[in-house]
Amino acid sequence: MESLRILLIFGIMYLTSQILIAIFKYFKNLIQSENIRIEKNDKYFGLAFFVVLIIGFLYFQKKDVILGLQIGLLITLFMGILILLIKFIVRISELFSLKRQRIEGINSKGFKITKGTKLNQYYWRDINWIKFDKEKFRLIFKGKNKIAIDEKTQNFYLLLKNIPLGYKDYDYTYIDSFFSNLTTCVVCGAVAFKDSKCLSCGCTTWSNKLEKDYSNYDEYVKTNQLEIFATMEKNEKFCDFKLIGKNFDIDTNWSPKVTKKEVLDYSEKEYWNIK
Ligand SMILES: [Zn+2]
Repeated sequence: MESLRILLIFGIMYLTSQILIAIFKYFKNLIQSENIRIEKNDKYFGLAFFVVLIIGFLYFQKKDVILGLQIGLLITLFMGILILLIKFIVRISELFSLKRQRIEGINSKGFKITKGTKLNQYYWRDINWIKFDKEKFRLIFKGKNKIAIDEKTQNFYLLLKNIPLGYKDYDYTYIDSFFSNLTTCVVCGAVAFKDSKCLSCGCTTWSNKLEKDYSNYDEYVKTNQLEIFATMEKNEKFCDFKLIGKNFDIDTNWSPKVTKKEVLDYSEKEYWNIK
């Protein structure tokens, strides 16, 4: 009899926890406005829960049934809070880590997406659908899973230019006209200026916001050029005002407003001596 009691308490405990997880899952789906689908397992769990509960109340002591319910509730709550806490810690550490997602190794076979030590290889042969979402300005592709990336991913623009022909939902004409309508950025020299912002260095046209920090546009351009072309160490080779990056073409007619000497003096003052 004693072992049956223990079995009942454990049974109720286990089923309570399963029911609570299922309820949580449905609420989550409801909030995300996905279709609610009751899975077979959940139906069995629900049925078993009520059967065991009735048997418990009819043939066993009430306090054993309640004990099972209480332990089940507590364990599930405890596990739930623990999972939330772990997720929260992971999210916070992601926010603070400076590792940016980056696209690498684009070639005729595919490309890679890296973040820190994580690396995912994607092959064109596995990608059966690609679309450029113009409103949200992001690229969506589907192989095994659906993945969306936007301009926060390094080399995003390079990938846009290198999507192989043949994806019928990818608007090649739109992408071509997007790149051919870009103009030269006064600050970095890349043909990457769109509307009022450079997609390469992030500099903007003169605005009220900039007036607070710079006396005029010339000063804004020069300050940003010193920063963009600075070398981090004394031995680092100066790029000679040619930014290495394949996302955008560099306008050969563009010339900087600062000299090499000014950039190196600035680098020495700002970066070389920092230990
Ligand atoms: Zn720029």
